[in-house]
Amino acid sequence: MRGAVLHGPKDLRFEEREMPSVIKPTDAILRISATCVCGSDLWPYRGIQKIAQPTPMGHEYCGIVEKVGSAVRTVKPGQFVIGSFFASDNTCPHCHAGYQTSCQQREFVTTAQAPILRVPLADGTLVAAPEVPPDDLVPSLLTLSDVMGTGWFAADAAGVKPGSTVAVVGDGAVGLLGVLSAKQIGAGRIIAMSRHESRQKLAKEFGATDIVTERGDDGVARIKELTKGIGADSVLECVGTQESMMQAIRSTRPGGGIGYVGVPHGVELDGEQLFFSHVHLHGGPAPVRRYLPELINLVWERKINPGKVFDLVLPLDQVAEGYRAMDERRAIKTLLRP
Ligand SMILES: [Zn+2]
Ligand SMILES: [Zn+2]
Repeated sequence: MRGAVLHGPKDLRFEEREMPSVIKPTDAILRISATCVCGSDLWPYRGIQKIAQPTPMGHEYCGIVEKVGSAVRTVKPGQFVIGSFFASDNTCPHCHAGYQTSCQQREFVTTAQAPILRVPLADGTLVAAPEVPPDDLVPSLLTLSDVMGTGWFAADAAGVKPGSTVAVVGDGAVGLLGVLSAKQIGAGRIIAMSRHESRQKLAKEFGATDIVTERGDDGVARIKELTKGIGADSVLECVGTQESMMQAIRSTRPGGGIGYVGVPHGVELDGEQLFFSHVHLHGGPAPVRRYLPELINLVWERKINPGKVFDLVLPLDQVAEGYRAMDERRAIKTLLRP
């Protein structure tokens, strides 16, 4: 079997890898229907996050169950399933609290850019679709594995409610799906911060009512101006830099909420500034497993179409071009078909 392996900065190869098999009785083996490149894959791809050795890549996946271990009860061969990027038992106290990405037994799924994938803790991790989906639903179902679930968590963590005024920092796939999530929850006004025309267009399609192109101090000033000097009720921080985090904190009204889902790189917060900002801050790796049943349902009934974030579709063996296109911002998100 061949799959994506990162050898060093900008050196992504599609090469021979060991065929996955059932190792533990709680494992499932999937034949991948579609996988994709994540914004977070670009951190090691760009060399910002160091890798110690050649590293198989990919953590967003959906596909057909081929085989299960002897202890697997709820997942069956032939089912079309979607799972989170963190495998979880869904039985421990953290899973019960809805934080499956902090599961006491969690395992990162890291080899999904390949035709065959081993998923640990299959019963707790995978959720089956009602049946094998028509092909046009596959991209949207794939987004539930991470990017859509992450946008949804950002909106949930930021406390978005019907009628809320929401600002979204970041126009990558997660930010755009944060817009869609806020819209679905019923936000009254959604301000998307974006400088790129194609992304602004998609943000509007997903429900953005206003676009702010300014960043930093000017971006904060613009949000204040649009909210009569008050600030947004909820802000979704979908980037993970010092600038984006501060932009989020300063754009939020006192008593408002921030959902932060951009993996922080070099972010440092000033305690005193945070103290006087009066904001609720909640984020982390999105517990997408919590939202899977609800989001599968919304996609299945064609109420949401998050698969629109894929603006580049490639055969899996061209995965390297998929990374390049995202790295150079020629593509928002690349879908890969084995
Ligand atoms: Zn991801
Ligand atoms: Zn758990």
